[in-house]
Amino acid sequence: MRSCTRSGCQEKAHISLAFQYATSVIWIDHLHDQRESHIYELCSKHWQRFAAPTGWNLDDRRRADVLPFVHRLAG
Ligand SMILES: [Zn+2]
Repeated sequence: MRSCTRSGCQEKAHISLAFQYATSVIWIDHLHDQRESHIYELCSKHWQRFAAPTGWNLDDRRRADVLPFVHRLAG
């Protein structure tokens, strides 16, 4: 089982965030097969509380289950 990247959190991760520093874009995606150092994996609780840092844009790369508030944050 993959656990949330947040320190002290034991919840199961269900989303991955990849920070693209060159373009200041955060890719939101399903969990990847391999955990990589620059990819954050969050549980549902921390994902719901996640907000992009100032100056960053969110790019949801999942096809189907898009969360409404992602668009609000990205806009
Ligand atoms: Zn968590």
